Amino acid sequence: MTLSPDSPLSALAGVGPRRAQELKQRGIESVEDLLYTLPFRYEDRIHFTPIGELRPGRVACVEAEVLTAGPVRLRRQQSFHLAAADPSGILYAKWFYGYGKKYYGDYLARTFRPGQRVVLYGKVEEDPYRPGQLQILQPQHEILSSGREPADSTESGRIVPIYEAAGPITSRLFRRLIYDALGRLGPTLPDPLPPGLLPRYGFPDRRTALAQAHFPEKDTDLGQLEAFRTPAQQRLIYEEFFFLQLGLALRRQRARQAPGISFTLSDSIREAIKNILPFHPTAAQKRVLKEIADDMQKPTPMNRLLQGDVGSGKTIVAFEAAIIAMENGTQVALLAPTEILAVQHYLYACQRFARTRYRLGLLVSAMPEKEKKQTREELAAGDLDLVVGTHALLEKQILFHHLGLAIVDEQHRFGVMQRLELIRKGRTAAAHPHVLVMTATPIPRTLALTLYSDLEMSGLDELPPGRSPIETRWVKEEAAAGVWDFICKQVAAGRQAYIVYPVIEESKQELKAATKEYERLSREVFHGLRVGLLHGRLSGEEKEAVMRAFNRSEIQVLVSTSVVEVGVDVPNATVMVIEHAERFGLAQLHQLRGRIGRGRHASTCILMTPAEVGEVARERLETLTQTQDGFKIAELDLKLRGPGEFLGTRQHGFLNFRIANLLRDHELLVRAKEDAFNYVAQQPGDFAATVEYVRQLWQRRYRLAQVA
Ligand code: ADP
Ligand code: MG
Repeated sequence: MTLSPDSPLSALAGVGPRRAQELKQRGIESVEDLLYTLPFRYEDRIHFTPIGELRPGRVACVEAEVLTAGPVRLRRQQSFHLAAADPSGILYAKWFYGYGKKYYGDYLARTFRPGQRVVLYGKVEEDPYRPGQLQILQPQHEILSSGREPADSTESGRIVPIYEAAGPITSRLFRRLIYDALGRLGPTLPDPLPPGLLPRYGFPDRRTALAQAHFPEKDTDLGQLEAFRTPAQQRLIYEEFFFLQLGLALRRQRARQAPGISFTLSDSIREAIKNILPFHPTAAQKRVLKEIADDMQKPTPMNRLLQGDVGSGKTIVAFEAAIIAMENGTQVALLAPTEILAVQHYLYACQRFARTRYRLGLLVSAMPEKEKKQTREELAAGDLDLVVGTHALLEKQILFHHLGLAIVDEQHRFGVMQRLELIRKGRTAAAHPHVLVMTATPIPRTLALTLYSDLEMSGLDELPPGRSPIETRWVKEEAAAGVWDFICKQVAAGRQAYIVYPVIEESKQELKAATKEYERLSREVFHGLRVGLLHGRLSGEEKEAVMRAFNRSEIQVLVSTSVVEVGVDVPNATVMVIEHAERFGLAQLHQLRGRIGRGRHASTCILMTPAEVGEVARERLETLTQTQDGFKIAELDLKLRGPGEFLGTRQHGFLNFRIANLLRDHELLVRAKEDAFNYVAQQPGDFAATVEYVRQLWQRRYRLAQVA
């Protein structure tokens, strides 16, 4: 029976309900899914080395005949020894396994028989007890003449693909299934890539690309294969990028065609904006505000990403944009990633808008139900002009009277889905709200290209004037007394300090440690100083009270968990001590450090660690002491942690590439993006069919119905 990519896995030989279930757990549900599971490396099993030419220390592939095979009992462990020969010599293969793993020995005993022809692959070494005798430990092996293998072996005599095993699904089984599937596909496959693109890059068609990426032709360069640089592999990577970008391009196109609200920007509105500014905006802030204001005057909705390193002054720009929307008679929603940040934005808004007639509201989960209800009702009735909130703003019951602008702060904490949800809420038959997304952790270009292709970009590339640089020091715990001394001196000079304790999960256990540290410090070290404690398990009101007190300098030393990480803004705070800094990620440390250096006083960030830290942690800490450049830090962080971790799990679906790798394949990503956006602009003859393909692919891959 001929297979198609949509065929279920059960159409393959050897896949019953149980196998199908196991594969499904790895996200493989159809023949297509299987074919897009590429090997992560390849082995040359074409060129067999005669045993006489083997050298210790080299990896080799040997074809030989089994002389003897059987278990050998040693003192502490079981082992299985095999001797095999070709005309040039004898090679031994040995497997070791604990007594508990007798089944493994049984398996080997069932596998090997004298007289069989076998292929052994692995690193050759000299037997330490018998000089001159060569052996391979735990070799990969292949029986050539047992009669169980098909004549055209998937295991030897070719470049053999190695797949990442998935539980019970071994690399070997992947090979067999994929080989079977490839053999039973028709001679041609429908190719979803627009045909014009293939010759441009010299890419093979889809059928050929799949065949060659799994079972490369014999003369394929192994180095190229391992670097994923063969035309077949490149085509498949490109294909994946292209359809992601095409979906994003379509989304942007649709957003641009959607009806928006064309705001006016009169002189009186300009005046209103000026009136809330406590300082002269930087040139960058002016430029960015103009980009935003231009967008908001257009009849199509704004979709803009505002990037700016910590402390570059995004908040005030957001407030300026908010004024434009409110003066035009619409509502504004400001979505923050944490309650603390929401509360702080709210407080700052109250302060900045104190002499205006705008009605402001706060909505966070921790608020009493009664208050939440009231805020909801006021929002729906149009009695609030600006609401600041957390995820609570995304709840079902929230309805806006007339949302004109949605601002999402620290976007990368939220997923693309949340952004869409907020747009959906504000959507009326007549218009979509404008959307401004702000992110503090600079997003390396590679990721920005993936996640924000559908957004216009603005950048604040200048820090407000009068900032003194932050000195960053890495200090071992044994020197803590000196650090506490330093804090006392700073406080005596009128400054404030943060001490951050590593509580990542905010679990009870972890909090106990932070609370203990707080008690110890306030009792033994900072007696006489006003010390406060802030963590994620406090109620909303408690958090608000602590933040207020710190804002007003009533608290001088704030012991906190990493909840202060994003956005918190107290310019008088000049010391940031991070205990167990080795436990934090790079981006997180950069964010924490961004809490200081915000005023005119010199600031100091102290990274405290035990005497010994691991290699990766050392690299992070050293980077931090050397640079304050958020982009540099972000790039390194991406390298150290990979894209999924870098952004947190929320974005995962979007970065879960089957084949592509953002870091390795950056160039292809750039090309695919350009091609996809041009394709949408030009809409050639095959456009409709391609759009239909993307629509279905996105539904399957990202569970997003709305592409186009
Ligand atoms: P972020 O971009 O990290 O959100 P904020 O908006 O919190 O930065 O601004 C950081 C600090 O800089 C705040 O104290 C803010 O009042 C101050 N600030 C912002 N813009 C200016 C400016 N143009 N001149 C002086 N201070 C500014
Ligand atoms: Mg901010």
